[in-house]
Amino acid sequence: MSNLPNCPKCNSEYSYEDRDFLVCPECGNEWKQGADVERAVGQKVVKDAHGNILQDGDTVTVIKDLKVKGSSSVVKIGTKVKNIRLVEGDHDIDCKIDGFGAMQLKSEFVKKA
Ligand SMILES: [Zn+2]
Repeated sequence: MSNLPNCPKCNSEYSYEDRDFLVCPECGNEWKQGADVERAVGQKVVKDAHGNILQDGDTVTVIKDLKVKGSSSVVKIGTKVKNIRLVEGDHDIDCKIDGFGAMQLKSEFVKKA
């Protein structure tokens, strides 16, 4: 007796494990065990300097003069940044700023407009 789940397609009880997959010898179905289990990983919540939750498409205001990496320009405090996109990493906001182009910001240095 095995504890493997029945085939979700034909409900056969003869499914067996093959590496990460489960295989049904009767209908040839292959599926991943637990693939439909909801994953909470990757659902990182990004908050601004005041603890407001930021979302893709939000407009934020820079609350601190920020040096632009690789140049002598500075994004001035009070600069409005439209249509942000949240990304993974140390700099968690991907955006475009007029006059600067595409760049990444840290959420701790902005506030929701
Ligand atoms: Zn099957």
